[in-house]
Amino acid sequence: MAKKIIVAGLGHGGIAAAALLAEAGYNVTVYESKKEGTLGYDWTDIFDPKAFKIAKIDMPDKDKYEYKEDMTFVAPDGVTKLSQHVPHDKLEIKMERKELYNHLIKNASDKGVKIVYECEVQKPILLGNRVVGIRTSKGDFFADLIIDSCGMNSPIRSKLPSSLMIQRNVTRQQKITIYRAFYNKASDEEVADRFKVLIRPEGVEGISWIASEKDHTDLLIGRFEDFSQEEADRFAEYLRADNPQLGTEVIRGGQFVEIPVRHPLSVMVADGYAAIGDCAFMTVPLIGSGIANSLKAARILAETVINDKTQGFGVEAMWRYQVLFYKHLGTGLAPLEILKNLMFKFTLDDLNYCFGSGILNDYNVTLTADFGSFYDQIDFTDINDLLLKAKQACADTELLKKMVNTGNKISLVTAACLAIPRRWDRKLVEIWANGYDRLF
Ligand SMILES: Cc1cc2nc3c(=O)[nH]c(=O)nc-3n(C[C@H](O)[C@H](O)[C@H](O)COP(=O)(O)OP(=O)(O)OC[C@H]3O[C@@H](n4cnc5c(N)ncnc54)[C@H](O)[C@@H]3O)c2cc1C
Repeated sequence: MAKKIIVAGLGHGGIAAAALLAEAGYNVTVYESKKEGTLGYDWTDIFDPKAFKIAKIDMPDKDKYEYKEDMTFVAPDGVTKLSQHVPHDKLEIKMERKELYNHLIKNASDKGVKIVYECEVQKPILLGNRVVGIRTSKGDFFADLIIDSCGMNSPIRSKLPSSLMIQRNVTRQQKITIYRAFYNKASDEEVADRFKVLIRPEGVEGISWIASEKDHTDLLIGRFEDFSQEEADRFAEYLRADNPQLGTEVIRGGQFVEIPVRHPLSVMVADGYAAIGDCAFMTVPLIGSGIANSLKAARILAETVINDKTQGFGVEAMWRYQVLFYKHLGTGLAPLEILKNLMFKFTLDDLNYCFGSGILNDYNVTLTADFGSFYDQIDFTDINDLLLKAKQACADTELLKKMVNTGNKISLVTAACLAIPRRWDRKLVEIWANGYDRLF
């Protein structure tokens, strides 16, 4: 009889893994709290389209997406700018979230995945240290493997016993609160920088964007603190002075949400359990993109499950998923949390200086468009650029100290990722995970 797999939550990685596993002959059921047809947000997302191929999903029809235009990054001073120049073969796509969900769900349903909607997952069911099922609003369900795709605040991950060594919560600095809305377009005047990313605007720790589209203006406000609708309205009004295209009527979205911006889980598997997507913190910590990484992780997870010779899905077998995830994605992602933390360590003057002095340049911001790794951020072959960065940093000793500290931390985090135990050994993994988590 086919082994039973439960996917808890219809997250992007979960539904992509479900499709690959159903295609391989597993009996896969997804339990999702929302109503059929209501998944996703009322806005567009940007991601690397190569993820479809990796997850063995057809590209959506051409009329369902468009290529994203270059972004302009604006320093906290509001004046100094750096511009992306993304080459054609690296372009990300922009797609309606709801269309993306439709595409992923159709792909999974065609491959035999069953989906139960309006079913709230409440907690894991354990037998000893093994996750054997889920308690839901529609009863208890049991399976040979539970894939946790319930997002950042998963009621499964956050209720696992501490003996499984899986982190249950995130700190305030490890998640960003987002307000996003599409406003009416208030002016037809030509806009110079159509997609502006604002770094710490008004000095507040966070990142925002304002993008001028054909028939609306897209505003995203991201902060490392909770903020109210009144504050979002006030900030929008503040932006209108320099961005007359930003109207006052919210035509789509207008919601507060949270995204994890931290290193991936140090332990993401247990006996009968694997976390994926935002639940395992697979977003790019600098910008919060997680769709492509979730889809890519789905392939790694599905292949781990299929290749488990015992088909028992014990922690020893599932650990291979984590090792491969770190090899292909995690080792590049984790150091980006150290860069994100510069938001709290660098003064506004430091950031303005980095933008204006050449320490950061157009090339560096271009790579934010299609990268999954810290190492893509630096062109190690461009000696002149490296020398300029070093020279400019040396001109400010306080900044230099911070940069050297950051460099050291990045080396340590990278070394820790590379030193992940290749095989599951509880004691060894515990020592490794504690050491790795302490670096952040
Ligand atoms: C405002 C915003 C903008 C973003 N923009 C981008 C972007 O442009 N590009 C990009 O790559 N990423 C973007 N992201 C991040 C991206 O959404 C996630 O990284 C990605 O979707 C992976 O998350 P996930 O699918 O694992 O989890 P989620 O998207 O959180 O999905 C979890 C699923 O589980 C369900 N669920 C949760 N709890 C339960 C429960 N108790 N019972 C049953 N079901 C449950 C939810 O309803 C949901 O369907 C953005 C996120 C936000 C919030």
